[in-house]
Amino acid sequence: MNRALVTLDHVSFTYEGQADYALHQVSFKIYENEWLAIVGHNGSGKSTLAKLMNGLQFPQEGSINVCGMTLSEESVWEIRKRIGMVFQNPDNQFVGTTVQDDVAFGLENNGIEREIMVERVKSSLESVKMDGFLNQEPHHLSGGQKQRVAIAGVIALRPDIIILDEATSMLDPRGREEVLNTVRELKRDHQMTVISITHDLEEAARADRMIVMNKGQLYREGTPTEIFQMDEELVRLGLDIPFPIKMSKMLREKGLPIAKHFLSEEELVNELWTSHFSK
Ligand code: ADP
Ligand code: MG
Repeated sequence: MNRALVTLDHVSFTYEGQADYALHQVSFKIYENEWLAIVGHNGSGKSTLAKLMNGLQFPQEGSINVCGMTLSEESVWEIRKRIGMVFQNPDNQFVGTTVQDDVAFGLENNGIEREIMVERVKSSLESVKMDGFLNQEPHHLSGGQKQRVAIAGVIALRPDIIILDEATSMLDPRGREEVLNTVRELKRDHQMTVISITHDLEEAARADRMIVMNKGQLYREGTPTEIFQMDEELVRLGLDIPFPIKMSKMLREKGLPIAKHFLSEEELVNELWTSHFSK
């Protein structure tokens, strides 16, 4: 197993003026170069987790360690350099008037030299396949393209970890695919550690590992295959079971010997084609 990059140890957090915990005694680790999906019903504490890992809020109980540093008022600036965040709304993330200005903005803020900056803007936009749009204005871009520029802005700062908080939820299916493919490539080619927060289990099925949050607590953690064995329990937790899994289950109930849960439509179709219809 790779080394742990982020460790949460019995973390609790309550927003000011609120009676209930937003997070209660949450502990887990995130390992180097893994893709971890955090799922859970609305209000289960996912965004609060992201804000804590990035030091936008501090835990009231427990501790958070990022890249060997315990989160504190002193370490927060260093930690923020290691964790980049991409948020839900593509339109709220654009700060530049053109694509390249937008990516350059964070670098300028960090006092990066001009020569390095030009190179970083270029290479970051290449990584998200937006290098053909350097001088485009944001309103000419699709939602998926805007989110990819937002990702370029984050990776230009060379973080170890990228958190995507519902970053695909406002996108159409094509935009979502573009962003998810980008994430997969960043993990593969740049050894990034990815944390994707989503209420879309089909998206979460692509991760290496999943965490299910429920009412501010960590309910379950495991591989997507393990988590999807929870079946109806997921529905009770306020989550929608992905279509290929529902379909596998229905076919099994109809007597087709489908052994496992298929997490993607493609896998299910291949299984049906090779083991059931080609005989
Ligand atoms: P999720 O991202 O899973 O939808 P959140 O982390 O946003 O959940 O919210 C967890 C809980 O904290 C919810 O009960 C929510 O109402 C509450 N909460 C979130 N943000 C704030 C805030 N700024 N002030 C007060 N309560 C908040
Ligand atoms: Mg949220």
